[in-house]
Amino acid sequence: MIDITGLVLSVQDHKERNGIVYVLLEDRIQSVYARGIQSPASKNRRLCNPFSDVTLIVSEQKSSTMDKLIKGNVNKYYYHIQDDLIAQSVCFVLRDCLFRVHIVPEYQKLLKKVWENFSDKVSNLNYACFLMGKILKNEGISPNVNACVSCGSKQKIETVSMVGGGFLCVNCNQGQYPKWPKEDLEKLRNVLIVKDDLVDVLAKHASYDLDDFLFLAKWFEYFENVELPSVRFLSSIRTLGQGKA
Ligand SMILES: [Zn+2]
Repeated sequence: MIDITGLVLSVQDHKERNGIVYVLLEDRIQSVYARGIQSPASKNRRLCNPFSDVTLIVSEQKSSTMDKLIKGNVNKYYYHIQDDLIAQSVCFVLRDCLFRVHIVPEYQKLLKKVWENFSDKVSNLNYACFLMGKILKNEGISPNVNACVSCGSKQKIETVSMVGGGFLCVNCNQGQYPKWPKEDLEKLRNVLIVKDDLVDVLAKHASYDLDDFLFLAKWFEYFENVELPSVRFLSSIRTLGQGKA
């Protein structure tokens, strides 16, 4: 038996009353087979809620990469996230991206910050954007924000081209893509170049919003060649919110 501590990303029903719990650890997403958790009487049921920080005691299965849940502890349950449609949807996008990439320790730390911030009703999406940016960077699909992707100039950058893979200058853009406000170009650059040890400092001063997050999520989709229903859903509720304003 070993114990693992991580963040519950999702739970999948499995045959009658069982489930498979996916837990984000420092170096991987561990799947844990949880017998009987769909039963209301199950003591382990509370360990299997998404948005929970848990420590699970599991037995490793020789024949499988899946561990078996014995018992465990909920360190913190960020249940408020479920009351907020945008917060929940942002978390689902992050979850879907994490399932597709190689996991590094920074992701667990950042996702926990995302959950904490939503739980504390922080209105910006700074940590969600930092996590998305980090994923893009580690996957090698980050926008080139150092120079114009077409001519290499660092002067007169005016927009971002997804097809081109990054910044475009005035001369190369030629009116193809709408001009970005200077502060938006800077925000995009900052979220991608921020060093791990400076993330908390940037988080204090920055204010990334849903549009910033969706831009990064769509960038992920484009370069990973996937379409994520969670991204489409988040886009649709964003438009809804705008209609009301
Ligand atoms: Zn250029």
